[in-house]
Amino acid sequence: MAVILEHNPLPAVLGHVCHHPCQEACLAAAVQAPPAIHELKRFAALGQRPPVAPPSRRLAGRVAVVGSGPAGLAAAWALARGGLGVTIYEAEDRAGGLLAWGIPPFRLPPAALKADLDYILAHGVKLELNRRLTPGQVREMRRKHVAVVLACGAPQARRAGLPGAGLGGVHLGLDFVKACALGRPPDLRPPVLVVGGGNLALDAARWALRLAQDVTLVYRRDQEHMPAYAEEIAQARAEGVEMLFRAQPVAIEGQTRVRGLRVVATAPGALGSDGRPVFAPLAGQERLLPAGAVILALGQESQAQAWAAGLGLESLSPDGQGLLAPGLHAAGDLASGPATVVEAVASGIRCGQAILAEVGA
Ligand SMILES: Cc1cc2nc3c(=O)[nH]c(=O)nc-3n(C[C@H](O)[C@H](O)[C@H](O)COP(=O)(O)OP(=O)(O)OC[C@H]3O[C@@H](n4cnc5c(N)ncnc54)[C@H](O)[C@@H]3O)c2cc1C
Repeated sequence: MAVILEHNPLPAVLGHVCHHPCQEACLAAAVQAPPAIHELKRFAALGQRPPVAPPSRRLAGRVAVVGSGPAGLAAAWALARGGLGVTIYEAEDRAGGLLAWGIPPFRLPPAALKADLDYILAHGVKLELNRRLTPGQVREMRRKHVAVVLACGAPQARRAGLPGAGLGGVHLGLDFVKACALGRPPDLRPPVLVVGGGNLALDAARWALRLAQDVTLVYRRDQEHMPAYAEEIAQARAEGVEMLFRAQPVAIEGQTRVRGLRVVATAPGALGSDGRPVFAPLAGQERLLPAGAVILALGQESQAQAWAAGLGLESLSPDGQGLLAPGLHAAGDLASGPATVVEAVASGIRCGQAILAEVGA
């Protein structure tokens, strides 16, 4: 455990939800199944953690970290270990970002997140909850801190622009999983249709299954093109989520409440720029799928443009170390667009190390 904690402040979280690119990159994967690095780390994280050692020296000044998702937590951990004082400002009433209210508790047990959070805070990191900072406040903070790290994630649900999206019984995926995680799930009337093919869609479908019996995922391509992790697709199927492929939503129908989702059949064509076949709608092949609720799980959007404008920057495009401008860094999904927990952790650590190098530590 001590060896893992040298490089990874969120071993319990990653032991549960990491998409383990290390296993695919492992040389052994070319000749046999790679070692089960993911499961081994999950097991190791159950063990006793060594006591937190104080930093070898303390440096003058503090760093403000905006956002307590994996990127902000990792940055704060790296900075505190290096001897800088750190305060994390978090908009919500709980820490963890999408780990706390995006990834459902049936995939990431709250106890695993708590174990990692407690460990990071034990390094002397201060946490202020219910503090949603504005770009103006961040400008002010830059004057009083050695550096500010923006790690605000991509917290907005992507909208589909589908006709009928404003009807009663239609929900946005990210808002839906958040409401469920916070214990305020909406009243779902079956049958429930979930539109999308990523992790968000799968998590929304699995939450929906816990609230209503009849849940179908609607995706415009085939299963092998779904961006969701294979394990999650298998889990969702095992739990009873139905899947309908090659169906592209055209409109949501109903008077004041949703009555159905109109879809058009699709067929694969030439490869697109992402290397996947483009699925084009087939003229005249529309049908109405009955629905009591529709969840549009089409991903997330970051507020990078708004932050850039508010901070007087042309764009929010950090260099490889997360540097945006002197004393201002960005990490995680805010900087990269929606990605993964391990990438957020890595970029947070890189930010922390870059700031320590700037102050000569
Ligand atoms: C449903 C779902 C399932 C996922 N499943 C997986 C998975 O299984 N494995 C995986 O690797 N990745 C998964 N991801 C992606 C992963 O959760 C994200 O890539 C990761 O959490 C990004 O970390 P972050 O720290 O950049 O942002 P976030 O986790 O979004 O944290 C950002 C934090 O900043 C706070 N904040 C925002 N604005 C402000 C402000 N103005 N002031 C103060 N605080 C602010 C937010 O409240 C939030 O706490 C999933 C994502 C979703 C939506």
